[in-house]
Amino acid sequence: MAEKLEKSTVFQCQQCGDCCVGRGGIFVKPGEVEAMAALLELHVAEFRRRFIEDSALGHRLTVADGVCVFLMPGNLCRVHPVKPFICRQWPFFPALLVDPDELEHAKGACPGLNPDCAHEDFVEAALNHARKQNVS
Ligand code: SF4
Ligand code: SF4
Repeated sequence: MAEKLEKSTVFQCQQCGDCCVGRGGIFVKPGEVEAMAALLELHVAEFRRRFIEDSALGHRLTVADGVCVFLMPGNLCRVHPVKPFICRQWPFFPALLVDPDELEHAKGACPGLNPDCAHEDFVEAALNHARKQNVS
């Protein structure tokens, strides 16, 4: 019954914090800066000054001492309710959805991924997750 596969079947974050070190950059999309600034009750300009840096690939969250500036003790996210799409999208990244080898590689890096999850089940769970996002 693959159509009933839930995200939790293939992925449950263990809050190890490893993906919050910001490898490759924690990029932000339009609107996300405003949402995070509102959550922290900061003016957008102040938020940008303190937490956003520019790069050739776009705007991204600042990394301080080797981790995202919003990673808190206990590996909790300070902006969790409105964290950037790139953080909310994991583990359903395009590379993992199209390439079974990429999924296997990711299993070795992220302890939240079910090591026994087949690629087709992973894709089905991603589709169901996307459908839920679209109706909510
Ligand atoms: S690496 Fe995986 S288990 Fe660890 S915090 Fe990131 S998503 Fe969660
Ligand atoms: S915004 Fe939150 S989830 Fe995203 S990298 Fe920073 S601490 Fe991790």
